[in-house]
Amino acid sequence: MNTKLKDLIQETYKSGATEVAVVATNDIIIDDNLADRCREPRCMNYGLSKSCPPHVSGPSAFRKQLEKYSQAVFFKIDVPSKVLYSSESREVFQLLHEIASGIEKSAIKSGFAGARAYAGGSCKNIFCHDHPECLALSEKGKCRNPQYARPSMSGFGINVAELFKTAGWPFGRAANNSDSDSTQMANVCGLVLIC
Ligand code: SF4
Repeated sequence: MNTKLKDLIQETYKSGATEVAVVATNDIIIDDNLADRCREPRCMNYGLSKSCPPHVSGPSAFRKQLEKYSQAVFFKIDVPSKVLYSSESREVFQLLHEIASGIEKSAIKSGFAGARAYAGGSCKNIFCHDHPECLALSEKGKCRNPQYARPSMSGFGINVAELFKTAGWPFGRAANNSDSDSTQMANVCGLVLIC
């Protein structure tokens, strides 16, 4: 692995990721059915931002795009389930998008000019929940948060469960163990394509 990539991994950890892996883009499985689930059953954020379906290019375009890349930085943040399913979850997703966009910027700076970041969750809910509409979508202006907001992986059909398998991480809830004090954990994750 080259030094620039190693530096990016270190930076991802320092930014707050629990685990980081470099995955081959051949191991990124795109599933149309996963992208379809944004529409049916309908996600509450469907259609509300420029970064979510039906306003993103979707699985076929993403498959085509992947042909230009050979590797990606995949990372996760472990969070207690009770936090992820509470009013504090927005801060977790903000951190997720900040890490993804930060790694994208650093990758570009270090010479990976085509770096492109994706993260979990809808930027409408994460960054623009106080606004009636997505400014970029309304065409009255530009995105309010271009420095942080990144497209949701779901809208491209990125199979996150398979990525966890490839990275060798348990997917979904896990117990942060100690016999007497076990905390149920969940995770959020992001992906930065590198080339
Ligand atoms: S304006 Fe808000 S909702 Fe629209 S793309 Fe930007 S962050 Fe997302």
